[in-house]
Amino acid sequence: MNQKSKIAHRPPRSLPSDHKRRENTPASFLLFFLAFLSLSACRTWQAAPYDFPKPADTSDQPVAMPEQKTWQAGSVFADNRFPAARLNDFRQEDDSTFRASILPENTPVNPSPWYAFRLWAEQEQDIRLVLDYTHARHRYFPKVSRDGKTWEALDSSRFSMLDTEDALLALRLSPDTLWLAAQAPAGARQVGQWCARQSLHPAVQWDTIGRSRLGRALWMLDIGEGKPRKKPLIVLLCRQHPPEVTGWEALKFFVDEILADDETARAFRQQYRVLVFPLLNPDGADLGFWRHNAGGVDLNRDWAYYRQPEPRQVADRIVREAGRNHSDVLIGLDFHSTYKDVFYTNDETETPPSLPGFKDRWLSELRAGLPEFEFKESPSNVGAPVTKGWFLTQFGAVGMTYEIGDDTPPEAIEQKGRASARVMMRLLEKER
Ligand SMILES: [Zn+2]
Repeated sequence: MNQKSKIAHRPPRSLPSDHKRRENTPASFLLFFLAFLSLSACRTWQAAPYDFPKPADTSDQPVAMPEQKTWQAGSVFADNRFPAARLNDFRQEDDSTFRASILPENTPVNPSPWYAFRLWAEQEQDIRLVLDYTHARHRYFPKVSRDGKTWEALDSSRFSMLDTEDALLALRLSPDTLWLAAQAPAGARQVGQWCARQSLHPAVQWDTIGRSRLGRALWMLDIGEGKPRKKPLIVLLCRQHPPEVTGWEALKFFVDEILADDETARAFRQQYRVLVFPLLNPDGADLGFWRHNAGGVDLNRDWAYYRQPEPRQVADRIVREAGRNHSDVLIGLDFHSTYKDVFYTNDETETPPSLPGFKDRWLSELRAGLPEFEFKESPSNVGAPVTKGWFLTQFGAVGMTYEIGDDTPPEAIEQKGRASARVMMRLLEKER
């Protein structure tokens, strides 16, 4: 698709200019004013559909809703009765070996086998626990907790692979609950608590902009100081994919820096506005899904059709905020997790964004500032209907999928998250 037709998809920013030729009588002013009012009132801000080169079928697919249950196998118990839990079956194989069955919400599905459940025993005992996934090979190194709040990686001497697919854990159980999960769970409740804390900052407004398929809130933090009119927009998205908790950790540090009490951050908040959508798939997160929403769809393939309620409402809200405030969307960052740290970017030679070269300056400053870390970039042309291409086609914005590795250490996530926000603010200061 050529540049002209892409621009035609962008929301109109102003009224047609032929009114300039009319006579400036009070009556014509009044007519113009009334026409403007009715246009503004009638306008429904909707993200434009778009023909991406690699289409995706994002129509509803059936999902298996998890059954909340407590299992007893001999003197050992397991349960999945908490948000973000995932355990589909639990049984005893021999005296000391137990098997936990972990299934996805539907198939085909990305191999991101999320699990989260609790274990306890009548008396203290050592067990061998097989994590059996059926539809994927083991991916997430186990995290353990005694209270469901503070998590740490399982001692590596207690972990091995049973075969090429399934993991084998050596665990000591007792009547006290042991929590076991792919990553420290971050369901809607945790994200809501974080939003509530952020909203205490005077530059933050916390809104519910819509509802997920099953009725959970879709939240937006609106960050900025002063009037939003004509302020350029930066948009941050997170958790289209429920298991991708390390991306969520990076987003929190990124927002921390934007809200910092210093000269750079204050000046940035006065000149720019940031919209944060911290949990795009709250149903999937709370139901312990591997990838999809409650419509059984990968939400990050729906940013052209908006068949699923979550992309539909978030995309429309971004278009509306940009349109009614006459704001340009400059940057769209979508936080995810994958096997390694990498930035998926748009190849800018085909369609340059309104800040050409910005991502290269950003990445090179990040590399210079944190030489001990890798900042890999993987550029590609607009292909599948994912958010990085959507930001470019809808707004001419720099679009990026900000991937944090599944096993990136917490300190590295913090440093990278903070530095990315710092460098972005400094570079945007120069753009003004
Ligand atoms: Zn993802």
